[in-house]
Amino acid sequence: MREPAEDLRAIAFCLERALEPSYRVKAFRAAAAAVQDLPREELERRAAAGTLQELKGVGKVTALVIRESLLGEEPNYLRRVQDLGTTPVDDATAALRAALLGDCHTHSDWSDGGSPIEEMARAARALGHEWVVLTDHSPRLTVARGLSPERLREQLEVVRRLNEVLAEEADAGAAPFRVLTGIECDINEDGTLDQEPELLAELDLVVASVHSKLRMPGPDMTARMVAAISNQHTDVLGHCTGRQVKGHGRGGQGRPESEFDAEVVFAACARFGVAVEVNSRPERLDPPKRLLRLALEAGCDVAIDTDAHAPGQLSWQELGCERAVRTGVTVDRVVNARNAEDLLRWTRRQPPGGA
Ligand SMILES: [Zn+2]
Ligand SMILES: [Zn+2]
Repeated sequence: MREPAEDLRAIAFCLERALEPSYRVKAFRAAAAAVQDLPREELERRAAAGTLQELKGVGKVTALVIRESLLGEEPNYLRRVQDLGTTPVDDATAALRAALLGDCHTHSDWSDGGSPIEEMARAARALGHEWVVLTDHSPRLTVARGLSPERLREQLEVVRRLNEVLAEEADAGAAPFRVLTGIECDINEDGTLDQEPELLAELDLVVASVHSKLRMPGPDMTARMVAAISNQHTDVLGHCTGRQVKGHGRGGQGRPESEFDAEVVFAACARFGVAVEVNSRPERLDPPKRLLRLALEAGCDVAIDTDAHAPGQLSWQELGCERAVRTGVTVDRVVNARNAEDLLRWTRRQPPGGA
């Protein structure tokens, strides 16, 4: 028997994977939320009477999807979008992707993501992951609704309760899965991190990223990044060049790489045990291959992340895996090929030279 809510979510997932604007996707997620808790008999009665659209969140297109789904047919719309955003990958890429157990960089609707934490978690579990780190933005990134210390503390409690639900589901036969706490923390211009140190210490994982003053002079950017990398709370250096590939987003103009001394930055990552992120977003593809090679030569580990802002974007890891394979990344260098326990052992490491 088909579930209308599942079909609606599957459509949203495919659209998100294809980087469709979130307003196009929202209708499907809203309709899924509107019908998921309604008894099937009511949906069938409404489908027969033509009153599905009277439900808040259900429109003409989504009502049609629901009707087809109730009849046990694969909705036309789903068939049309099914292959959007998928590309065939080679065996080595598929093998590396299959070895990944989690994702270190994801966003929810608490900051600039489009979906609730729970939906992101369920989508990550459905992709075969064992864990996902929730890394919403830090306070200074107001355009992305960065989380104040108070809101982040609130979020930690929400994640704690969600993990209880997921553990109960695992007891009942679902795949074991947990949401790890985290942040994508802005690297301030002076290299400090944009969140209270006590709070950063409490989180399972910290991604540190540059989001402002991307065009500062190279020597200043190098010092800024090294300061953040040497911060004892930093675990992953997010999208290190800040570039945006032409043909995507913001008018498709692209954005050049920030200038910094990559050898110095990657040496610092290796020294402080910070993983260099392979950001899988199609408009970022960051770092470019020549820099990723340099990071590997410097002895850095990598995190192949999606930076997903919607459930469908969680499937972008293949894009990062493809680049990783091409530059010689082996699975032993990939921090998110570890299980949650091993991952946490790494994020709780002592700083070099420390006690
Ligand atoms: Zn970012
Ligand atoms: Zn991000």
